[in-house]
Amino acid sequence: MKKLALHWKIIIGMALGLAFGLTLSYTGNADFSKDWIKPFGTIFINLLKLIAVPLVLISLVNGVASMTDLSKLSKVGGRSIGIYLTTTLIAVSIGLVLVNFFTPGEGFSEETKQALITKFAASASTKVKAAAEIKERGPLQPLVEMVPDNIFGSMSSNKNMLQVIFFAILFGVALVAIPLEHSKSVKALFSSLDKVILKMVDLIMKFAPFGVFALIASLISEIAENDPSKAVELLFALAKYSLVVIFGLLIMIAVIYPTMLKVFGKVNYKDFFKGIFPAQMMAFSTSSSAATLPVTMKQVEEELGVSEETTGFVLPLGATVNMDGTCLYQGIAAVFIAQVSGIDLTLQQQLSIVVTATLASIGSAAVPSAGIIMLVIVLEQLGLPAAAIGLIMAPDRILDMFRTVVNVTGDASVAILVDKSIKNEADNLQEA
Ligand code: ASP
Repeated sequence: MKKLALHWKIIIGMALGLAFGLTLSYTGNADFSKDWIKPFGTIFINLLKLIAVPLVLISLVNGVASMTDLSKLSKVGGRSIGIYLTTTLIAVSIGLVLVNFFTPGEGFSEETKQALITKFAASASTKVKAAAEIKERGPLQPLVEMVPDNIFGSMSSNKNMLQVIFFAILFGVALVAIPLEHSKSVKALFSSLDKVILKMVDLIMKFAPFGVFALIASLISEIAENDPSKAVELLFALAKYSLVVIFGLLIMIAVIYPTMLKVFGKVNYKDFFKGIFPAQMMAFSTSSSAATLPVTMKQVEEELGVSEETTGFVLPLGATVNMDGTCLYQGIAAVFIAQVSGIDLTLQQQLSIVVTATLASIGSAAVPSAGIIMLVIVLEQLGLPAAAIGLIMAPDRILDMFRTVVNVTGDASVAILVDKSIKNEADNLQEA
């Protein structure tokens, strides 16, 4: 057992969790999972969340401080954001092409539509409310909210990652800008803290197979609610839509990232997948890029050979702003809802989805279900009723798992590409 690689242990945990969850719901014992299994899943998620804020803060300060000068920082920053935007645009375009080609929203019976909307009306309304609060803010509000007035306030919740990022970058920049005699000891401190945090991740990951087992088992038994046919029936009605989303996500994973890595980074996709797999499994079971971040960083640095400074800078940023899977999903979901409602979107409206979904995905927090909340903003911009998200609520928990895998894979790919480009440049300089 000791020799088994981590990803195998996680897969076994997942498979056993699935089997156990189904058994519980078929035997009418979903409550057992609530009392005795779910708490272990919650403990595991809590552990991951627990280190999310210190990890982002410490690794970003460390990442920025290890840049030799500020011009290198702006180079790495500029490139990361440039590639992040490009992959997100590719993702939403793929989503739009697929949803227009397969038209999953046509052919729904009025009865099915009503059943879906009524069943999920209650949970839809809380999501719509959350989105309305976001929408009420002025155009510059996101910018204002990025700048905290109290760093301890920002660090007290995992929801203010952008504020923590802002503080960390400012701190790191100041650290690079002051003379070495003053910065030396602080840099050494952060470098040691970084090692400590990564060791904590290591320790937490020992619990991962059990945590994943508990998460999957309780999720399955909850969805099925002692009546597995219910979940299956609703999922079936939405199967075509879900399949189109999953197909798009698969294209990102199997075609877009491997091609980018091969062409621009000369990276073998087999090595890439072997290295990133544990992070993908973690993303799948937690549905949160932020909770997965510790694992992503560990794998990218230790297994994929990306330098500590690039990892420390590019990945915390990416986990927060780069969500290719979410953007692809939002594009498909918006057009799907229009199709179900019998509304033909013009080309111009479809193009506007590219822009709004990109912004909405950047604004989505790296936590479960954030994507569907921000989808409301995309819908309203198109003049579609926000309550229509009730339609797609049923399979969302599952689709969230898949899109988070893509979000995390995208972050890792960009980290590798940025790292390669910086290393190549340094090599060329040395040769010249
Ligand atoms: N759960 C996703 C993430 O953390 C965000 C989303 O809901 O799409 O990456």
